[in-house]
Amino acid sequence: MLINLSDVLSDQHKTVEETVPLTMDTIRLRSGDYPVVGSEPIRVRAEHLKEKELLITADASLTVLIPCCRCLEDVKHDFVLHFTKHVDIGLSDAELTEDLDESDFIDGYHLDADRLLFGEILSEWPEKVLCREDCKGLCRVCGCDLNKGTCTCREPEPEPDPRMSVVRDLFKNFKEV
Ligand SMILES: [Zn+2]
Ligand SMILES: [Zn+2]
Repeated sequence: MLINLSDVLSDQHKTVEETVPLTMDTIRLRSGDYPVVGSEPIRVRAEHLKEKELLITADASLTVLIPCCRCLEDVKHDFVLHFTKHVDIGLSDAELTEDLDESDFIDGYHLDADRLLFGEILSEWPEKVLCREDCKGLCRVCGCDLNKGTCTCREPEPEPDPRMSVVRDLFKNFKEV
């Protein structure tokens, strides 16, 4: 959903506030596609600071399905976002300074609310999601979901640690002396 910024940019110290729906229904990442199953409208506030500098504040919340990292069952993950970005839309990427944010969500005089949110969702993306703390995961041999049932597979023998066998040999030699 695009928000027109031409009004706010024509006047200094002007502020525009808009509430727009989230229009993306999937979060596309390199690791896969994650469906958005619920969202609150996005509240965006753009304040014209000076020349082409804007202070953008946004509030949003959405629910995304992310598979449990152990059993792959879909888990509803809530993102509650509240953030501020300081952008200068007159600058090229190379001119961006450290206290300014990237403004790939602004195209000409329009702010793309979905894109604005996408960057924030990325930075808030959880490292791992578990359906529950003690998820038993999948059997490494047959792939059955160990939360739902058991299988008769035996856990593969752990590889012996070669460093341990050195210690064991040393110990054996000791005893023989
Ligand atoms: Zn799980
Ligand atoms: Zn199994």
